[in-house]
Amino acid sequence: MRFSKTLIPTLREAPAEAEAISHILMLRAGYVRQLASGLYIYLPLGWRVLNRINKIIKEEMDSIGDQEISMPVLHPAEIWQQTGRWSEIGEEMFRLRDRTNRDMCLGMTHEEIITWLASKEIRSYRDLPQSWYQIQTKLRDEARPKSGILRTREFLMKDCYSFDKDEAGLEENYKKHEEAYHRIYKRCGLNFYQVESDPGMMGGSTAHEFMAPSLAGEDEIVLCDKCGYSANREVEKGDKCPKCNEPLKAEKAIEIGNIFKLGTKYTIALKAVYLDEQGKEKPIVMGCYGIGPARIAASAVEQSHDRDGIIWPESIAPFDVEIITLNMNKTEVLNASESLYGVLKSRGVDALIDDRDVSPGVKFKDADLIGIPWQIVVGEKNIKDGFVELKYRKTKEVEKVRPEEAVKRLTERH
Ligand SMILES: [Zn+2]
Repeated sequence: MRFSKTLIPTLREAPAEAEAISHILMLRAGYVRQLASGLYIYLPLGWRVLNRINKIIKEEMDSIGDQEISMPVLHPAEIWQQTGRWSEIGEEMFRLRDRTNRDMCLGMTHEEIITWLASKEIRSYRDLPQSWYQIQTKLRDEARPKSGILRTREFLMKDCYSFDKDEAGLEENYKKHEEAYHRIYKRCGLNFYQVESDPGMMGGSTAHEFMAPSLAGEDEIVLCDKCGYSANREVEKGDKCPKCNEPLKAEKAIEIGNIFKLGTKYTIALKAVYLDEQGKEKPIVMGCYGIGPARIAASAVEQSHDRDGIIWPESIAPFDVEIITLNMNKTEVLNASESLYGVLKSRGVDALIDDRDVSPGVKFKDADLIGIPWQIVVGEKNIKDGFVELKYRKTKEVEKVRPEEAVKRLTERH
């Protein structure tokens, strides 16, 4: 993509209301804009990051046999009334009436809807197990939306639901999803912990959260350095490790995912049953597995930045490389930049070319702020000798190489 034709509105200063580092940097680097409290617009760079995260999530979900579907955001109230959550959940739920005066709500989660689907489509033990997921918009009327895209009223969520004939099946599905989650966060370049947590309003017996350590986090996790035990502070109130009695240390963290063994709470309420081998009717056993893609993006920024800007992990960066054309009025420089851009594109390397008519200083500053992992600097003096500069954003190490060498290295990493 061409910088000159792309909406990348970088700012020198962050708006005063931004406090979290990820919020400040994503506003300054032109990734997002706030529409209203808890409502964000993703600009081209922000949307590319989110899509790269979603792609990783989908690949890992598909690899364990999960099937992607899409459910409506608008739900009829009756299904929520059947599980009791229509009255249990308070003002967090957006409620409305349609033109026939029927009660509706905007989905803050989809257990009810997917269990309704299972109740209609699953008949026999032969239909099980099943795992269905979607990456869909959720709405929650948060009392205090804050920290930019970390706590918003409308957000994307990957929610997955498994259906099994018994606890043993659920156990197996839970394990598979747990492992897939580890792969997802690792691939996204995050530092994270899996901790025990409280099932809360979801119900069910066992739950785990995935936590990315960050000062911007609203949760606190406790960790044992000796045996590796970890838990959400809400679950583990003591100061000593329950496994080995060593002192626990506390750390702030962002919740980036959660998994629940729901059991039969929803399937009994919504009569999602199957006939077993003996022809006996039994409730289906459920698990559910959520991930917030925007929280992965914000956590990556929280964990990986410096005073000049964002340093994206290569796997979720909006582009693989940025070509910085220093002298727009010099034909050799323009030609070399355009040729690099074309070759990289043809090899499947995503490149952003800074072809704006602005000073080198502005280009360097913006490139570091935006945080694309690699930069190729094309300048008049170097190109005369047949060289470009290859810069690694993370360490700021610069190397003089032939253009072909830069292409080769980036193609190999890709
Ligand atoms: Zn311990």
